[in-house]
Amino acid sequence: MPELPEVETIRRDLKPLVVGRRIAGVEVDPATLPRLAAVPLEELRSALVGREITSLERRGKHLVFELDCGRALVAHLRMTGRMVWRESGAATEPYERGRIVLEGGNDLRWADLRKFGTWRLVTNAQEVAANLGPEPVGPDFTMARFRAALAGRRAPVKAVLLDQRRVSGLGNIYVDEALHRAGIWPGQAAGELGPAATKRLFEACRAVLEEGIANRGTSFSDYVDGQGKEGKHQMYVKVFRRHGKPCYTCGTTIERIVVTGRGTHFCPRCQPERKSRGKRA
Ligand SMILES: [Zn+2]
Repeated sequence: MPELPEVETIRRDLKPLVVGRRIAGVEVDPATLPRLAAVPLEELRSALVGREITSLERRGKHLVFELDCGRALVAHLRMTGRMVWRESGAATEPYERGRIVLEGGNDLRWADLRKFGTWRLVTNAQEVAANLGPEPVGPDFTMARFRAALAGRRAPVKAVLLDQRRVSGLGNIYVDEALHRAGIWPGQAAGELGPAATKRLFEACRAVLEEGIANRGTSFSDYVDGQGKEGKHQMYVKVFRRHGKPCYTCGTTIERIVVTGRGTHFCPRCQPERKSRGKRA
């Protein structure tokens, strides 16, 4: 599933291509439309066709296409969504479900094997941020806010990091990587992290996402960048899907457990389980 680094890579690829371009048409596979757009195709077309894209921003895992009318189209890739830049005459993408046709002979092609992705029209781009916590690569992510997000929580620290209302942009891959980097057991109650561990985790969240962006995202399964090419970060992960292999730091075998319903990878030596003071979450 694309997380912040993957969506940011797509944004950086597409922004210089789409800004200043006018939308000439919108096509969506009828079977995908209800889930994808939640409005009739005519409504989508009347909102988008003729509009110029003035910016392409990102909030959490959302791509935000800002329009010259002040509204925005917000795309979320969910499990298997892809958005790639193509010449209008190019062959249909595998699992293509829709396209935004731009004046001048290019399309944004939307492909989505599992069809969980969404396009939503919003009155303005700021609406997207309303339900999202600060993101670790942004200026709003401060130690004070991070401490407040964890404070008093009996849920596993992994669950809190995955909760987009508390911290936005992290998903399963980068949460496992951040917890490993900070030396924290993923099942530990979030509210029981001490000040030193909290600081290590705060810094680790930012560091793993920045590395992911530098490596143009992680392509374990479906993610591709704005040109349809795979990222490289899967070659640099320390624990994610490395269970059964030795830890790069200590040589101990990486383990896989289930935390908060998600497959979770960690080194039992670098990230030792600590006795909880309260009832185990
Ligand atoms: Zn280790």
